[in-house]
Amino acid sequence: MRYKIKDIGEGLDVSVSVSAAWLAAECPDFSLGLTDAGVRLVGRLEPVGEGFLLRGTLSGGLVASCARCLEPATVAIESPVAVTFIEGDEVVETDAAEDEAENMPDDVVMFQHGVIDVGRAIRDEILLAIPMTAVCRPDCAGICPTCGCNRNLTPCGCEKRALETSKLGALAKVKLQ
Ligand SMILES: [Zn+2]
Ligand SMILES: [Zn+2]
Repeated sequence: MRYKIKDIGEGLDVSVSVSAAWLAAECPDFSLGLTDAGVRLVGRLEPVGEGFLLRGTLSGGLVASCARCLEPATVAIESPVAVTFIEGDEVVETDAAEDEAENMPDDVVMFQHGVIDVGRAIRDEILLAIPMTAVCRPDCAGICPTCGCNRNLTPCGCEKRALETSKLGALAKVKLQ
């Protein structure tokens, strides 16, 4: 995912596939997998002013955990990418640098030693693309909060029982009054 700026010249076509190992290393907070189609960035790096502009599209499919039942959920990705890479020091974590970082647009990434790593742009897009509410299917019934079973596989009836209990409770109250 690294490109030497001396190879870019007037412009360089970029085509990168995301590997499962890279995903695990770059997005450790999410247990993500790849679909058969995988995820690929296709675009072009071009010199602009002081830096280099990467423009392209990240597309493919990821497998995340369903927010309701934790089973695999497929997330389709189709995101335009536009990032400017500028050579310079990585912003250090000091108060002054923090202010500076806040003023820096999100789509500017620093690079060093004449090597641009487009992986960072890919990671940012992937993190934006994973909806926190990824679901395995729109009508996923999720995990039962009472007995913990996957209600897609084993309808447990806890909810029905809870409903009946609360109805009985309501009736009891009415009788008391
Ligand atoms: Zn689900
Ligand atoms: Zn249950």
